[in-house]
Amino acid sequence: SEVRRDPTTGDWIVVAPRRLERPWQPESFCPFDPGAPETGYGWDVLILPNRYPVVSPEAPAPQTDGFYEAVRAYGRALVVVETPEHNLDDLSDLPREQIERVLRMVRDEMARAASDPGVLYFLYFRNKGREIGVSLTHPHGQIYELPVVPERVARELERAEEYWRGRGRCLHCDVVARESASGRALLRGAYWAAFVPYYARWPHEVHVYPLRHVQLLTQLGDGELAELAGVLKAVLCALKNAVGKPMPYMMVLHQAPLRGDHRYYHLHFEIYGMYRPDGRLKYAASAETGAGIYTLDTTPEDAAERLKKALASCPRGIS
Ligand code: UDP
Ligand code: ZN
Ligand code: FE
Repeated sequence: SEVRRDPTTGDWIVVAPRRLERPWQPESFCPFDPGAPETGYGWDVLILPNRYPVVSPEAPAPQTDGFYEAVRAYGRALVVVETPEHNLDDLSDLPREQIERVLRMVRDEMARAASDPGVLYFLYFRNKGREIGVSLTHPHGQIYELPVVPERVARELERAEEYWRGRGRCLHCDVVARESASGRALLRGAYWAAFVPYYARWPHEVHVYPLRHVQLLTQLGDGELAELAGVLKAVLCALKNAVGKPMPYMMVLHQAPLRGDHRYYHLHFEIYGMYRPDGRLKYAASAETGAGIYTLDTTPEDAAERLKKALASCPRGIS
């Protein structure tokens, strides 16, 4: 596989034809259960190499014709198996302590990835729900250790740097202050804030920010990870309860690249709950995917009210 660049937009595309071989929702056998060939026994969280990786240390040099830009698809694709229990619905169904273990494992893996000069970006994400194409329902997240900075993050970096240069402050710190003082605020702890942003693109979108101005997951301390586990548990539980049936969502960590000086940036999690209030799935169709303009049938303020109600029936995320 190779990573090609769209010269018209700057987007990177990972061309990985071997991914076609991956199994789709096998009913009888789960590769992430204890005792499966790659898992063994006696673990509570496991990071496995993805068997159908989009990037790998063995990727060949890309063919280039001198016009198009391509880079070697070097890196690692990993699966974060979050629990030995196959039948749990979601991350939020795990005890807070278990979610904390998951986050610590991811942080450790990132520290390892940061020492690999071929890896420029650590992308941690989680897809939830068969409706959005999840092929294995055993609770898991994923990691892509990439040789390029994803374009959406690159855009955020640019805007944050511009703001920092112009005003001498962090754009994201200013956003967090605004949002925390608004009706869209969901939770605020000693270390973290969660809110539905003013600029939400999805029907039930939540952003989770550390109050401390940090750029990388590896800068977070144990206390911060412990509270983050509680906040994610509460927010994901609220999404599950918001419209009467478990909401498919995408969750992605936005952080700085592993190399370079990005002190103007501020890491955060973005969670996109994809059901409308009536329980119908919102697609990213022509306007969204083709033009990059999102349309919302509800307001972020409504979504925040709905999520706050749902939160009331969830375990408190913060002590
Ligand atoms: N997978 C794996 N080992 C297996 C079967 C699947 O590592 O035996 C991987 C598969 O390549 C996929 C992931 O597990 O990337 C399951 O991820 P999910 O369905 O959430 O999303 P996908 O990556 O398929 O979009
Ligand atoms: Zn900041
Ligand atoms: Fe972001």
